Amino acid sequence: MKKRLSPEVKEKLLEALKTGVEKGYSYYMIWKILRKNGVEISKSTVEHYYYKNFPEKLKKRGPYLPRELRIKLYDEVKKLRGEGLGYRKIKKKIEELYNISLSLSTISRWCRNTRSPYNGRRIPSIEFLEPSPELAYVIGVVAGDGWAFKKRNGRHIVGARVKDEDFIEEFSRCLGKVLNRDPPKPRQEKDGRLVVSAESKTLYEILQKPIDIDKITSFVEHCKECMRGFLRGFFDSEGCVRKDGSIYCFNADIQLLQYVKRILGLLGIRTTGPKIYTKKETLLFNERMGKTYLRKKDVYRIYIRMRDLLKFHQLVGFTIQRKQKRLEEYLRKRGLL
Ligand SMILES: [Zn+2]
Repeated sequence: MKKRLSPEVKEKLLEALKTGVEKGYSYYMIWKILRKNGVEISKSTVEHYYYKNFPEKLKKRGPYLPRELRIKLYDEVKKLRGEGLGYRKIKKKIEELYNISLSLSTISRWCRNTRSPYNGRRIPSIEFLEPSPELAYVIGVVAGDGWAFKKRNGRHIVGARVKDEDFIEEFSRCLGKVLNRDPPKPRQEKDGRLVVSAESKTLYEILQKPIDIDKITSFVEHCKECMRGFLRGFFDSEGCVRKDGSIYCFNADIQLLQYVKRILGLLGIRTTGPKIYTKKETLLFNERMGKTYLRKKDVYRIYIRMRDLLKFHQLVGFTIQRKQKRLEEYLRKRGLL
């Protein structure tokens, strides 16, 4: 539920909007100034009032250039930057070459890799998504315990919340590579867990849940490296290793588990399951929250066959050292490593 603004906050907001707009500030800048002055207010509230009181701001932007053209300009900008040109020189050169004026902030964002027409939220298609082990890894993680959702402001977010630093770093690296930008910075939550998320409508489209297997097959099964990337991501996210060496993973989506099983099979790694692990309507105790919940869904589990653990180690393995070491300890004990 949205909180009503107190008259005092509202007055401060309207005043800040008036002076801010006169100075040509964006709502984001105005929000930052308000926060600096100790006014507790959400960004979306400032955005709402900004466009409500100054609707002409909405019309200020010109129509978007067609994607193909934006991509062409983007490539040109990157090339010119690579030749050592500054933002202003790039702007001038683009005007000469294409008779199009790009804003300096667009050029700067493109050069700093924080935005690109290849991955912007305005691009609805997945045609520019190239198969790669990194993309497959991202798919594995998000299909596992990660998320893909649409925010109320229309932005599309994919991300994951995890315990291990090595895991979040790898996820972030892969996301950065896939989206052709700098890796998003992990942030730490109060309970110590690490979160990485990034905006991408394209990834959201293939990863919203329940996962549509048809949308991911061409990326996952592109080649052996991609299959390995997918499985590694999935097992980093959902896999467990016991002291006795057994590796298993849970999920409520039986079709997804069957798919994981199939890909493991293509690499020659046999599994048992999926078998039902807990039925819905049973109680679940969440240690972190200190609460008990009623499960909403059946949960299934697959096991890696003990005889194929070495193969799993060689072909998939874990990025998470905590899990990888446990697996290696077991294999060593059995004289397999
Ligand atoms: Zn591949």
